[in-house]
Amino acid sequence: MEPPARWPATRSLPRPERLELPVETLGGVGPSVRRKLGRLGIVTVADLLAHRPRRYESAAEERTIAELFGDEEAVLDVSVRRASGRRRGRLHILTAHVTDGTGEIRATWFNQPWLESKLLPGTQLRVRGRPNRFGFQVSSYDVGDAAETADFAPVYPSTADLAQKTLRALTEEALGRARDGGEPLPSAVRATEALPLRADALVRLHRPRTEEDAERARRRLALDELLVLQLALRRRAAEREVLVAEALPPPAELVARYREVLPFTLTAAQEHVVTEIDADLARTTPMQRLLQGDVGSGKTAVALYALLRAVEGGRQGALMAPTETLAEQHFLTIEGLCAELGVRVALLTSSVTARERRAAHQLVASGDVGVAVGTHALIQSEVTFADLAVAVVDEQHRFGVEQRAALAEGRSPHVLHMTATPIPRTLALTVYGDLAVSEISAPPADRKPIVTAWVTEERSAEAYARLRRHLDDGRQAYVVCPLVEGSETTLARAAEDEAERLRAHELAGYRVGCVHGRLKTAARRAAMAAFSGGELDVLVATTVIEVGIDVPNATIMIVQEADRFGLAQLHQLRGRVGRGAEQSYCLLVSRPRDELSEAAVERLEAMVSTTDGFELAERDLEIRGEGQLVGARQSGLTDLRFTRLRADRDLLERAKELAVVLEGETLLGAAVERLLGEAEHVGES
Ligand code: ADP
Ligand code: MG
Repeated sequence: MEPPARWPATRSLPRPERLELPVETLGGVGPSVRRKLGRLGIVTVADLLAHRPRRYESAAEERTIAELFGDEEAVLDVSVRRASGRRRGRLHILTAHVTDGTGEIRATWFNQPWLESKLLPGTQLRVRGRPNRFGFQVSSYDVGDAAETADFAPVYPSTADLAQKTLRALTEEALGRARDGGEPLPSAVRATEALPLRADALVRLHRPRTEEDAERARRRLALDELLVLQLALRRRAAEREVLVAEALPPPAELVARYREVLPFTLTAAQEHVVTEIDADLARTTPMQRLLQGDVGSGKTAVALYALLRAVEGGRQGALMAPTETLAEQHFLTIEGLCAELGVRVALLTSSVTARERRAAHQLVASGDVGVAVGTHALIQSEVTFADLAVAVVDEQHRFGVEQRAALAEGRSPHVLHMTATPIPRTLALTVYGDLAVSEISAPPADRKPIVTAWVTEERSAEAYARLRRHLDDGRQAYVVCPLVEGSETTLARAAEDEAERLRAHELAGYRVGCVHGRLKTAARRAAMAAFSGGELDVLVATTVIEVGIDVPNATIMIVQEADRFGLAQLHQLRGRVGRGAEQSYCLLVSRPRDELSEAAVERLEAMVSTTDGFELAERDLEIRGEGQLVGARQSGLTDLRFTRLRADRDLLERAKELAVVLEGETLLGAAVERLLGEAEHVGES
């Protein structure tokens, strides 16, 4: 007999577009929470689901107050006797006397003033935390339902003003939509690889039952992410295969003279890269090389070599920087040398008059200018080259786009990408899979490693005393202003105010200048020139000095509220000192340790422990996410959320193999489109 006809099991169709809805579509997200989430890079529901916990609460013992032991984490069931809050500077401390019948203890909360009104006498509470010398420091608590104090509750990267409770509640709600994302992998692949469904993996990532559970989920999501990346790389590589460049003739007289006019000899590391570049330029496939070198390692000398190779071949070079300040800085560095060599250089900026700009563009278009320097945006959108042979792209984690834009009718320039935000070689190969990677691994020999110290605000007077000693010895200094929230204008005003305050107090009697992003080009240039010419002792600055400024006589830097900066950013900032033979210092000032987030403490400790940019980059990947107020550089293709590079080498290999057979999968394809779209977006502002 025929089996009875049955309806197929109800199976909802994937609706991935629902995950792209903004976080405001979740309950309780108003403008303030949206802004806070935005600072963590969370804009859509999908972003929230991809916000990976940085750790999970451990499985803590449930104890009584009498049983508390050392500083061991524990969970207590208590009732409130009385509670009161007070302020100490920016810190709010809430103390509650709590009891469970076996004893009484003082429980403390930081920066949760609103809680005071809830902790009425008699309130039953469940608290998780650690005993300390004042009593019991609470890390999470529940009134009623025990969700926050549960074992393995997720602990998310966050900022000081966004509570774990909020993030947990929001992810909980977002998980209800996890299935809308659909399942990108065919069931056959899932079966052979023994992988959980993607939606289940998301649930387990945020709500694991054990640590192993969480790790299995993370690896599933990492595989998805690596697969999308591999598919994107394959697509890019295919596009590039059809490009042709003109081979340049071998190195000749101009670069020989360049070596002579340089005030130093290239180091072995620099020479090695030069050799690699020469080999690339001799080929008819366009060079696509990534030059990684820590700040101060001497990339610019190598870049100029590549540009001059174009010029001596009778063609042109372009040097593209991410900001106008940096373009100007590059221009100032190379102009003198080029003048000695008889090579004409043009600085293309948007801040000159329209007439000057037209004139400069004409010189580039006619071929009279050998090397053009400008911002990426400008060179890509406005300038026509007579015959562009070599493009150097500084500080942009982007991907082939510039090259397509600068493409002159079927003939592509050779492109050298430079980055001083070193990413670990493993990641570079993953992310820029089709770029050749060069490294300047050692800085010029006469450098001493920068001495870095972390001091708290109470001791900042000593930091300034130290800075003044350098000034009295004829050295110069930087003071980096805190990252305040708000617009570039707010930031600029804060920097001006701080410079004024320093002139009146700590730095009275010294010549103090100030630079920030709101200064007119002429004023900014004047301030920079005054500083490098020794007419200023101190430069008070926002992060505009993050890259490119090169004043070897500057030997000390104070970074205020250093806990608010990202690790890559701190490292970049620090690279402004230590550029001469003198011993240099970097003093990181922050609030007291116990007021900082875990990640901030980890960042500052990492800065003190090493000056090796590659090591810091690895550390950054481990602690990344938190408090990166201006971490946009990390976005796009380098932004792997789930992958742990060292631990997941096997997954990377698997992803490479699987990419070959999964080229046609729809959901993966859509993710690839999104990724490539995003990559084109990065740095275009
Ligand atoms: P990067 O761009 O990699 O941060 P720069 O190219 O700005 O580094 O170089 C940093 C400093 O080191 C500059 O003052 C530069 O003149 C100097 N420098 C570069 N190469 C050498 C070298 N081979 N020997 C001595 N000093 C060098
Ligand atoms: Mg540089």
